[in-house]
Amino acid sequence: LRRRLESELEDIRGAGTWKSERVIASRQGPHLRLAGGGAGIINFCANNYLGLSSHPEVIRAAVEALEKFGAGLSSVRFICGTQSIHKDLEEKIARFHQREDAILYASCFDANAGIFEALLTPEDAVLSDELNHASIIDGIRLCKANKYRYKHMDMQDLEAKLKEAQKHRLRLVATDGAFSMDGDIAPLREICQLAQKYDALVFIDECHATGFLGPNGRGTDELLGVMDKVTIINSTLGKALGGAAGGYTTGPKPLIDLLRQRSRPYLFSNSLPPAVVGCASKALDLLMESNAIAQSMAAKTQRFRSKMMAAGFTISGKDHPICPVMLGDARLASVMAEDMLNRGIYVIGFSYPVVPKGKARIRVQISAVHSDEDIDRCVEAFTEVGRKHGALS
Ligand code: PLP
Repeated sequence: LRRRLESELEDIRGAGTWKSERVIASRQGPHLRLAGGGAGIINFCANNYLGLSSHPEVIRAAVEALEKFGAGLSSVRFICGTQSIHKDLEEKIARFHQREDAILYASCFDANAGIFEALLTPEDAVLSDELNHASIIDGIRLCKANKYRYKHMDMQDLEAKLKEAQKHRLRLVATDGAFSMDGDIAPLREICQLAQKYDALVFIDECHATGFLGPNGRGTDELLGVMDKVTIINSTLGKALGGAAGGYTTGPKPLIDLLRQRSRPYLFSNSLPPAVVGCASKALDLLMESNAIAQSMAAKTQRFRSKMMAAGFTISGKDHPICPVMLGDARLASVMAEDMLNRGIYVIGFSYPVVPKGKARIRVQISAVHSDEDIDRCVEAFTEVGRKHGALS
């Protein structure tokens, strides 16, 4: 076994797809200290969109929940793992999204793994964007419905697939609300129109939208004015909403009731720890009190995107805090990211097979807690490094 594993690991290294992990020696935030030295690093690669991961009130809420409700439940929800805080958080999530009910999971990966199998039978069909997140792909694999994959955000192809799927009892269109590699936003208005025309339901994964897209941070459905047309939302508590961990499904009450009975990652996995529930609950309170944080992130995103484009870079996507700096060449993306870190800017290069061949990029993620100076330093460093490596003339 050892020999086989070592050879497999060697293959991964040889293919240039080895993922190494930098060790952070401080809290998550816009400024980091890396283990083994590097202090004062400006961090542009966390999903800490609203800067709530280390917000003092979020931390305090976690400590209070830990003290009052303990470290954990030592149980799944339906045996003896449901506390008042779990019910309160589910109610708060449903209210935030203006849906009937919500159910918590240990992660959004679990929420995606659990929903399709519980909801769809061999009589039904699921239509999935080809660039959907791995957890949606895995969740769909686990279900016995008929599977259709439509080209990325291609409404003609979706319509063709919806026509083909008319023979099935129920059709569910599944898409990421915002796609994390390109920072592009699903055309939800058009998707909902097609869903209406062909009698389909719409499911969105809002991991990269909840808390900050739309005027009140409700997500892609609010941004595009279709809150009443999207039936099911899955999202995470592990990104903008405090960043601890956890995921959920929110939607019609009978669907949530069914998931409590049938969804395997919910039924057979431990309850969310109280401290994690405390973080997410406080993050939602902060967002429901005021939309100021979400708005401030939008302004920072605009500052970064416009300055980078003025400097001559191509930034994929539009108005999203995921700002992929398109470079094309995999080696260029990797050496530039390394050189950015030498200048105190932590960004990550992505290349094949994570993104298509020839479309390597450095992904920059903006947070509400980056200062204007942080953003300007990042643009300056990109400009220097881009010139040095020939990415800018
Ligand atoms: N869906 C999308 C689009 C994601 O980006 C992620 C996380 O990377 C997940 C689901 C999984 O979320 P979680 O970290 O809560 O499991």
